[in-house]
Amino acid sequence: MLDGKTAVVTGSTSGIGLGIAGALAREGARVVLNSFSDTADDHKIASDLAAETGADVRYVRGDMAKPAECAGLIEQAIAAHDAPVQILVNNAGIQHVAKIEEFPLDKWDAIIAINLSSAFHTIRAAVPGIKQAGWGRVINIASAHGLTASPYKSAYISAKHGMIGLTRTLALEFAEERILATANAICPGYVETLLVEGQIADQMKAHGMSREEVIEKVILARQPTKRFVAVDAIGAMAVFLCSDAAQEITGQPLSVDGGWTAL
Ligand code: NAD
Repeated sequence: MLDGKTAVVTGSTSGIGLGIAGALAREGARVVLNSFSDTADDHKIASDLAAETGADVRYVRGDMAKPAECAGLIEQAIAAHDAPVQILVNNAGIQHVAKIEEFPLDKWDAIIAINLSSAFHTIRAAVPGIKQAGWGRVINIASAHGLTASPYKSAYISAKHGMIGLTRTLALEFAEERILATANAICPGYVETLLVEGQIADQMKAHGMSREEVIEKVILARQPTKRFVAVDAIGAMAVFLCSDAAQEITGQPLSVDGGWTAL
């Protein structure tokens, strides 16, 4: 379905980003994986995915905390294939949990930069190519925390709400052009990834609870299905948003959250 299209997924050497990258590669897209580390493992993840899917998958380093490197990621992806980046998934994200009055300033700045501003910078670099090609899909990975709040996650929740505002604005700007380009945000509930593992470990320490107790009583307390969302479910949503059937879905936050935001 996506043969000949270049897809960039930021922060995609693990978790949800890697799941989405795999799903897009299986549909035939040329996929650019990204993280800030540039290790042998990062390159192996790309070559393994290429071998598994038969797609062109490569790794490009870029620190999504740095505006010039966000734009540079898109420029390198365009140069690699001499073609525009027509599928852009802004997925890179970090978390920090603390009361507002104790929230470290450097953590606030890093979360706003990586979880929100990086999407502006990659979009800004990719949009001219999408407009010229007349077809594109921008998928921003927000969160149930883009639509609702919890205490102690001020920076993350501010960034994810901002991600939905950015998505809506881009959707309207694409619509003005009368092209076949959409922008949407996927809002996952809890997915078992490294980002959540960190929170489980912190909560075990803070409350003296077992891993199972933390998952049941803290992490999944607000997720009515009482199970984690599968990474594959997010990948499948991204593939659907890239399909022709999703052409008129634009500017939307799409929840994949086990009913969290139905509460
Ligand atoms: P993860 O930690 O596995 O993935 C985060 C990715 O971001 C990693 O690959 C990491 O290398 C990358 N990253 C971090 N800082 C970066 C930087 N400066 N430059 C480039 N890459 C960087 O966690 P995940 O849960 O897969 O998170 C992916 C996205 O999904 C995040 O935006 C997160 O907020 C969002 N999300 C996760 C959940 C969940 O429950 N796991 C729920 C809702 C939304």
